[in-house]
Amino acid sequence: MGYYECPRCGSKDSYQGTEHVLHEKRGNQITMVNEAGMAMTRETGDGTEQVELMVVKCRNCGESLGQKDYRLTEAEIAAEEAQNARERRKQQKKIFRWHEIQMKWVVVPGIVICGIFLLIEFLKSIF
Ligand SMILES: [Zn+2]
Repeated sequence: MGYYECPRCGSKDSYQGTEHVLHEKRGNQITMVNEAGMAMTRETGDGTEQVELMVVKCRNCGESLGQKDYRLTEAEIAAEEAQNARERRKQQKKIFRWHEIQMKWVVVPGIVICGIFLLIEFLKSIF
C-alpha cells in the first residue's frame, strides 16, 4: 500500500475519518461518493438523508486528502514499471507475430508467384 502526502504541510501521516453530511433527497436515492471512492447513505426521514463519508485526512493539520495526494511506495512503482514492461513486451510480440503472418501469407506467395511468372517467361524465351 502507498501513502497519502499532505499538500498543505507535507506530512505523510494520515488517518481515515468519517464525516456526516445531511442533504435533501430529490427523487431517487442519491449516493454520494467522495474522492476515496467510498460513501454510505442513510435515511433520516422527511426527505433528508444522512450521508456517511469516509474521508482521508492529514493527522498533522487536518487537511482533507484525495486521490491526487496518494503516493505509491518504491516497491509499488517498481511493480507498476515491471507490469508496463511486460505489457510492452506483449505488444512487441504481437507486432512480431503480425510480421510473421505477413511473411507467411503475403511475402512467400508473392515470391512464389514471381518465380512462376519468371519461369514462364524463361520457358517462353526458349521455345
Ligand atoms: Zn497536513
